[in-house]
Amino acid sequence: GVMSSLCVPAPKCLQRTFVAPLRHMFGPGPSNVPPRILAAGAEPIIGHMHPEMFEIMSDITSGVQYAFQTKNKVTLAVSGTGHAAMECALFNAVEPGEDVLVAVNGIWGERAADIAERIGAKVNTIRTPAGGCFTNEEIDQALARHRPVLFFLTHGESSTGVLHPLDGIGDICHKHNCLFVVDCVASMGGAALYMDKQGIDILYTGSQKVLNAPPGTAPISFSERACEKAFNRKKKPVSFFLDLSWLANYWGCDGKPVRIYHHTGPVSNFYSLRESLAVLAEQGLENSWRRHQEVAEYFHKGLENMGLTLFVKDKNLRLPTVTTIVAPPGYDWKEITSYIMKHHKLEISGGLGPSVGQVLRVGLMGCNSIKASVDMVLEALRDALQHCHKSKV
Ligand code: PMP
Repeated sequence: GVMSSLCVPAPKCLQRTFVAPLRHMFGPGPSNVPPRILAAGAEPIIGHMHPEMFEIMSDITSGVQYAFQTKNKVTLAVSGTGHAAMECALFNAVEPGEDVLVAVNGIWGERAADIAERIGAKVNTIRTPAGGCFTNEEIDQALARHRPVLFFLTHGESSTGVLHPLDGIGDICHKHNCLFVVDCVASMGGAALYMDKQGIDILYTGSQKVLNAPPGTAPISFSERACEKAFNRKKKPVSFFLDLSWLANYWGCDGKPVRIYHHTGPVSNFYSLRESLAVLAEQGLENSWRRHQEVAEYFHKGLENMGLTLFVKDKNLRLPTVTTIVAPPGYDWKEITSYIMKHHKLEISGGLGPSVGQVLRVGLMGCNSIKASVDMVLEALRDALQHCHKSKV
């Protein structure tokens, strides 16, 4: 044979065919993707700027406007995960040297503060221990003290299992001439949320939670007030990829007649995202909110009947999509999650950030938010508590 000029041979591992195992994805995300949405993602590839693609993107905008309950023109999906949308929100709305206030009641506030610091913002935080939330009065006072251009709040804190109330905060922000930014990655579709009525200026989510689409796209919407700030900056945002002027043009929501190539959108992911929004529209947003609440209550009752304790004491503050359970005393939480994965092919997870070691987290989102999933998780937990090592405390 001819001598090869390659010094790295074709890897042997790539000769094996890969088949993904079937798992019940009951952690805080990604959730299971139903066949209909998987099939949409397997459609043939077309160009990222073909007319049919622009139609799909326009459908996504409409679907996100419905899911967010907003009439905002600048509504699109970032090509990236929830973090990309988080950076898109902060990179575009904040200039170096400006003041930002972040509500930290879990890991997502920490991350938002980190991102805002990286772009040279002056970051202040209000803080509460894991499991807590803020009163409108506390927020009002902090805004008066720090005078930020932007206030960041997480609607569904997936690290602690808290659903933060939103009513009235938008008005308070606007009274202080401040943009209201909300992370609804873990809550959208699973809990009531009205972007326009609640005065939210920037709202973003992810594809892989209640929407049951593959990870990789992140819906985001900007109010007119937010656009005003983002489109009249002194300095360009540090990221070209996440520059809202470019994204709004690519998505056809800047009113300009010509669209210019910015980046190659993830075509298959847009197909799946569109399909997932179609499922939500078909089911009805309010029905989806109601179902997640009912299933969560059924789950919580079942957990308490087993003698387990919920991490969030106030029922009204419990996030219906992600439940945090106090880590069962005497057990190693890692042994429990591994046992359940091994014997039940079911993912639940431990804590994250401030809740590490303190909780188990179970996500029942979108198609997974049904009583049959609850029964499966309860059975798996019962089995694990019987068979995992318990120390005598
Ligand atoms: N915010 C919240 C509330 C989340 O739950 C997550 C994902 N766990 C993110 C942001 C980040 O999303 P991603 O992992 O898709 O980047």
